[in-house]
Amino acid sequence: MKQSLAILGSTGSIGEQTLDIVRENPDRFEARVLTAHSRWERLAEQARAFDADTVVIADERCYAPLRDALADTDTKVYAGADAVAQIAAAGDTQVVVNALVGYAGLAPTVAALSAGKKLALANKESLVVGGACVMPLAAEKRAPILPIDSEHSAIFQCLAGERAPVRRLIVTCSGGALRDVPAERLADVTVDEALRHPQWSMGAKITIDSSTLVNKGFEVIEAHWLFGTPAERISVLLHPQSIVHSMVEFEDGAIKAQLGTPDMRMPISLALMYPDRASRPQERFDFLAHPQLTFAEVDRTKYPALDIAYDCLRRGGTAACTMNGANEVAVAAFLARRCRWTEIVRAIAYALERAPFVARPTLDDLAASDAEARRLAAEYLASVG
Ligand code: NAD
Ligand code: MG
Repeated sequence: MKQSLAILGSTGSIGEQTLDIVRENPDRFEARVLTAHSRWERLAEQARAFDADTVVIADERCYAPLRDALADTDTKVYAGADAVAQIAAAGDTQVVVNALVGYAGLAPTVAALSAGKKLALANKESLVVGGACVMPLAAEKRAPILPIDSEHSAIFQCLAGERAPVRRLIVTCSGGALRDVPAERLADVTVDEALRHPQWSMGAKITIDSSTLVNKGFEVIEAHWLFGTPAERISVLLHPQSIVHSMVEFEDGAIKAQLGTPDMRMPISLALMYPDRASRPQERFDFLAHPQLTFAEVDRTKYPALDIAYDCLRRGGTAACTMNGANEVAVAAFLARRCRWTEIVRAIAYALERAPFVARPTLDDLAASDAEARRLAAEYLASVG
């Protein structure tokens, strides 16, 4: 029996690589549902190539051209953000791959889990913002969440078969595009520089998040929710080669690590196939080509976002939601060349200082908190010109 997939964000970096896995395994998977934000031409190509049942375009202005492009096919076409969440819960797919970027991923995560579906989760923002709602829902519906994020896939693999409590999760960190840029130059960093990630080719937003280490902070929060590990037992270790994808230390001092060439198709395929594994013959890691794996402390003065994220995790409630909303606005402004790179973390700090805090937020509280964080970040960015 083939597994039928809904791939949310199929035109993005993770979405396209998920379709690579479907293409490599036509006997195991079928991509029934595909969604995109506004790249309707690419979505139409994908719908034809994979003979999709349904496509959803989030931006309603793209509905008519997408519908016309698929007029000669049986593919059903819908539009709007609500339709993305509705399709995540709809009956005929077994697995939802959430490869959306940002807060927009939360509602589809909740919808998929509410329908009891297996969720292959790349959209870490779902957990950063709403982990306290998402994880109990997954437990209640017995809906498995399989991480796609490489660090969490690594930790998941290290924990497989273990019953003993862990002493520490060790999340590795490449250092991002600006790792070797001195702190005093950061205010003048260009968009192109910040987008030049040394190891991974990813969407623009996560590449900027990697350069500020907001991404690593979010991954600490994500690890907390996925594995139930408290903040003080999660550490971050700089590992420029990105070969050790993360590690788990147990109470007896043993450390398990998961290693491999940086290629997101590995964690994507594992999330889809677990407990099986894909057969990807081209994957042969050569230790002799990587004779040096190095580790170092993260510079927490150069990268204040990491401690801000730890602080949000300890505070709980809406704190991380505020951090995420402000970050999304500031990253978009930086990418549009409307603010300096250094203003991203300042916008986050500004929003966190002023936003109302709700200790036990509902999904509605999270929506309000996200909107307020965006307003505050925009206010800050306007004030600095
Ligand atoms: P991307 O920007 O390349 O793709 C995002 C996809 O979501 C696109 O298909 C886009 O059309 C769609 N989308 C964007 N905004 C939307 C909205 N408001 N409503 C509906 N659809 C929308 O992003 P990506 O790099 O593939 O990242 C996706 C997620 O996976 C992010 O949460 C990211 O942090 C996480 N992730 C990515 C990588 C990677 O290698 N790219 C690695 C680990 C985790
Ligand atoms: Mg990651």
